[in-house]
Amino acid sequence: METLYLKVRDLKQDGERLDRAAQLLREGQLVAFPTETVYGLGGNALLPGAAKAIYAAKGRPSDNPLIVHISSLQELPPLVREVPPAIHQLAQRFWPGPMTVVLSKSDWIPSETSGGLDTVAIRMPSHPVAQELIRRSGVPVAAPSANLSGSPSPTCAEHCLHDLDGRIAAIVDGGACQVGVESTVLTLCGEPRVLRPGAVTLEMLRQVLPDIRYDPGVFHHLPDQAKVASPGMKYKHYAPHTRVVLVRGSREQFRRFLQGRQEPFGALCFEGDLPQEPCPLLTYGREHDPSSQAHQLFDALRRVDGLRVPVVYARVSGEEGIGQAVYNRLLRAAGFEEIAL
Ligand code: AMP
Ligand code: MG
Repeated sequence: METLYLKVRDLKQDGERLDRAAQLLREGQLVAFPTETVYGLGGNALLPGAAKAIYAAKGRPSDNPLIVHISSLQELPPLVREVPPAIHQLAQRFWPGPMTVVLSKSDWIPSETSGGLDTVAIRMPSHPVAQELIRRSGVPVAAPSANLSGSPSPTCAEHCLHDLDGRIAAIVDGGACQVGVESTVLTLCGEPRVLRPGAVTLEMLRQVLPDIRYDPGVFHHLPDQAKVASPGMKYKHYAPHTRVVLVRGSREQFRRFLQGRQEPFGALCFEGDLPQEPCPLLTYGREHDPSSQAHQLFDALRRVDGLRVPVVYARVSGEEGIGQAVYNRLLRAAGFEEIAL
């Protein structure tokens, strides 16, 4: 299929392109679009066929549920069995924005969209193009990240084209994503837990839900037979083909660690870590600026295979705020392999 490329930089001037994309969504076709976190691969969340097409286009296992995107709070009640009181406070603080909440689903949500679960994950994005596209489509929009399953999430339209050109109806290009890592996912079914860290941090959520904590699967490799809280935790994620090993230590320790290595290797580190360029290297932001790391992480991971080395050592150091989300993604890219210096 030929993938339509629709550049949208101005909601008024490019309104016809948005209408075109919204119509495609309504009809059950797939459209990649920008959000403030990463690009999403949108389909009409109410049509089982659209959900099936999303799994097929991404090569995603069909038991890994899709996040349903809405553009206003009024769209929520029909999608869920009940609206828990905490939602109002959470929404007031963090919606629109990079927070996804898992709730009991209503019969409106087909089991294809929810990956066979009786819950549904809901988010209201803040990116103006995403909001306007959902609003104009008139339907809730199921949208996982717009990458091939397993590879790093897309943070610009070029990444979507690379992975999905010819496989979907259209790509809306709204420029680079601001945050760079996917939304925080939390569940309100049972004890409140964070299933995936993101820009809305645990500390921020505790201002509304004082007892919320991380699910054990967030920073630990669960045994294969473990019952996971979020199906996405089971699957290998964000991974280049090249072996990635995390190395925890100071800049000095990291330099010394690399000096001692015989075999060919590459490095993924912070700006200024290796000014002598002792090996092929990529950087992902500044050491004490986790937002810059989140913004650059996936683009850097997409370039790792291009270093053409058998192993890449990725430096990690203390994780503050959104740095926890960066570390969670790196752990998965490295298959949980980490060396502490
Ligand atoms: P992605 O679509 O790539 O942003 O990934 C969405 C993440 O949200 C995956 O890890 C899913 O497993 C998780 N998720 C979506 N819906 C649910 C749900 N109903 N319960 C638990 N986790 C969910
Ligand atoms: Mg994804």
